[in-house]
Amino acid sequence: MSVFAIVGPSGAGKDTLIAAALAARPDIIALRRCITRPEAAGGEPFEGITEVEFLRREAAGDFALSWRAHGLSYGVPPAPTGGITLFNCSRRMLEQAALAFPGLRVIEVTASAPVLAQRLASRGRETAEDIAARLARRAPLPAGLPVTTIINDGTIAQGVAAFLAALDDAPNPRPRPRPSGRTMTETVFTNATLVLPDEVRHGAIVIRDGMIAEIGAASATGIDCAGDLIAPGLIELHTDNLERHIQPRPGVNWPHGAAIIAHDAELAGCGITTVFDALRVGSINRDNSYAKYARGLADEILAARPNLRISHRIHLRAEVCSETLIEELAEFGQADRIGIVSLMDHTPGQRQFRDLSKLAQYVKGKQGMSDLEFEAHVAGLAELRARFGEAHEAATVQAARDWGAVLASHDDTTADHVATSAAYGIKLAEFPTTVEAAQACRKHGIATIMGAPNLIRGGSHSGNVSAGELAQAGLLDIVSSDYVPAALLSSAVLLGDLWDDLARGFATVTAAPARSAGLSDRGRLGLGLRADLIRVARIQGMPVIRETWVAGRRVA
Ligand SMILES: [Zn+2]
Repeated sequence: MSVFAIVGPSGAGKDTLIAAALAARPDIIALRRCITRPEAAGGEPFEGITEVEFLRREAAGDFALSWRAHGLSYGVPPAPTGGITLFNCSRRMLEQAALAFPGLRVIEVTASAPVLAQRLASRGRETAEDIAARLARRAPLPAGLPVTTIINDGTIAQGVAAFLAALDDAPNPRPRPRPSGRTMTETVFTNATLVLPDEVRHGAIVIRDGMIAEIGAASATGIDCAGDLIAPGLIELHTDNLERHIQPRPGVNWPHGAAIIAHDAELAGCGITTVFDALRVGSINRDNSYAKYARGLADEILAARPNLRISHRIHLRAEVCSETLIEELAEFGQADRIGIVSLMDHTPGQRQFRDLSKLAQYVKGKQGMSDLEFEAHVAGLAELRARFGEAHEAATVQAARDWGAVLASHDDTTADHVATSAAYGIKLAEFPTTVEAAQACRKHGIATIMGAPNLIRGGSHSGNVSAGELAQAGLLDIVSSDYVPAALLSSAVLLGDLWDDLARGFATVTAAPARSAGLSDRGRLGLGLRADLIRVARIQGMPVIRETWVAGRRVA
């Protein structure tokens, strides 16, 4: 059972996000508050009762929590057992709420000060001075409660996506009684080499109730890390590693549930604490070689989540050069935890497969095609692109907007490709294939992702620009393990050595992917962030994962 208190200042859009989340996820239960005022149309659905009736119910013990504010009385009924439950709470009632609902978690919906001020001003109910005074008055949240903060500055779709992710993903500490009656967990790592956002420093880190609570000098008690690194958990934006578990050998189809569990455990063991599982949408039916699978597999991943060790989100890879992209996109919605949508175009003769001889080598090798068959294959794909390409591209951009997902480009090769991405509002470029494209990304403020295998092997397997070359030129922002999960940690250390800056090396697999994917609650060792962290020893230069922790729980 998970109970969430939702708090947030006026103008942050809390009620809008709650209503949209409930519409998208009928399984989530909202506790209906009793308030001593007439039921109003619109806004939060509550039960309006008289003060006399309120006092009667309060005395009868009908409320788990009640309070008075602005001349009104508010009562919250007890939570049902099981499932996800939320209720609209007042900031100053959080301490009592934590006593009333054991294991309570908090979601704070807020917005940056200028955005709040602007939204309040547009309502026209208060003067600018009143607004400034109201914003300055905000009480801090009580310490020690697990809080996820959502900065609701973007579109409603983005806010709802972040809100749904927070409901599914909040720290879930193992309860232990505390003298006050509340529950807490605390773990101290000391004598550690802390990989902080901008520096690496010896010291201790304290995690409490699933969050990072203190960072400071080494202490006498706690887990002695013997100088091992403590770094943020790694964040993987693009991996098709699950496919390897589903098809461990060509032609062998492994039961999906078991494959998902094994994939998850492998990632945890590699120090990855948040993953975007890449699933292709856009199939080609006519030769049956490129079948639809994403919706079914997404259902299986989402259903498996209570049993998984790390945080999973979906990364839909939308193939423009296909037949079925639009109908496949239509099978997904806001409740599917789609964090990233990438716009891919694998039409032969451009981008990744600019060099047709390389493609010929790849396809003929993999599928045993004759020259004639290869020519027919290429012509068929070019025809698909001509027929559906533009509509597919537009539908993908729109779907990402509707779901509040980050839109990424894929295999950008020319400055023109990057200019098109920028026009779509893309902030993330997967695997640019040339230095020209990577430079254009830098110019447009688009972060670049390169594959870890490319970095470690010293080049791309399809003849594109090497990740190492981009790293040397300062044009590599994020590393993805692509198809080798263990390569993520190795890359962080390799880049740290290359740049002589371990913190910067780790940022490519922690803070930078978190920022690009819109995850503000993780990716750094910072106070109040999720306690997703890894302990890493370096043995003869090679990094070795000792422990992986997710939201304050050890998972590997
Ligand atoms: Zn590609």
